[in-house]
Amino acid sequence: MGTIRYNKELKIREFEESLTRKNMELKENYKKLKELDELKSSFLSMVSHELRTPLTTIAGYVSLLLTEKPGALNPPQREYLKTAEEETEFLNHLIEELLDLSRIERGEFRVNLESVDITQTIIKAISSLQLSADSQGVLLENDLPQALPFVLADKERIYQTITNLLENAIKFNRRGGKAAISVFSHPESNKLTFCIRDTGIGIKEDDLDKIFNKFYQAEPLGKRRFGGCGLGLAITKSIVELHKGRIWVESKAGRGSTFFFELEKT
Ligand code: ADP
Repeated sequence: MGTIRYNKELKIREFEESLTRKNMELKENYKKLKELDELKSSFLSMVSHELRTPLTTIAGYVSLLLTEKPGALNPPQREYLKTAEEETEFLNHLIEELLDLSRIERGEFRVNLESVDITQTIIKAISSLQLSADSQGVLLENDLPQALPFVLADKERIYQTITNLLENAIKFNRRGGKAAISVFSHPESNKLTFCIRDTGIGIKEDDLDKIFNKFYQAEPLGKRRFGGCGLGLAITKSIVELHKGRIWVESKAGRGSTFFFELEKT
């Protein structure tokens, strides 16, 4: 009887000791992961800042040359410089996204709320994307009611959200396709629903809940036909959530996508 009890107590003590060991290992691993995560965040922020400064200088010289003040350009020179200008704009966009991500990860991403005329913001976003839509053969439409209430929002960040969703609606589309934005004001609630739809390639069911994750792209590496690094939707989601709104998508592979997000009216 005594031996059985002794054996049981021994097993319980061994079990407790192994639990304490595992607990310490877990704490140690968690500490290491946290350190790595902090290192990654400061690396991200440092690299993005270091890239931005020389890029601003390059972009400045390219646009100066394009003014032809330093000297006249022949057609091939103009064409090469135009390509350089487009590529620096693309890199700049990428760096801005990396900087936004590092702000989000450090908890330093903030919104500056004010009463925003959303119609003006949408018109500005559409006109900034018109050229790109035309060159990709996509019809860009806005389907706005006569008057929309103002929303409580960060003007720049909401412009970024709308532009990003419309850019995707153009990018993941086909020649002859459509991209459109509409907004619904619900009379019975204080919400405004934004709806960005396209007739593009669509999203597979498996990917629907992953596309808002940072760096996630539905097309596998090596098969990618579209530019970008998979950060736009993660940033967009953070912006909408900082406005206490929500964002979601409905789509079917091959049959277009519709992204929705909601904001509060003022
Ligand atoms: P990026 O555009 O840089 O790839 P995003 O974060 O904006 O990154 O989008 C993540 C992924 O979600 C895209 O790579 C694409 O696979 C998918 N996606 C986003 N918008 C659309 C859309 N309108 N139609 C089809 N797929 C989309």
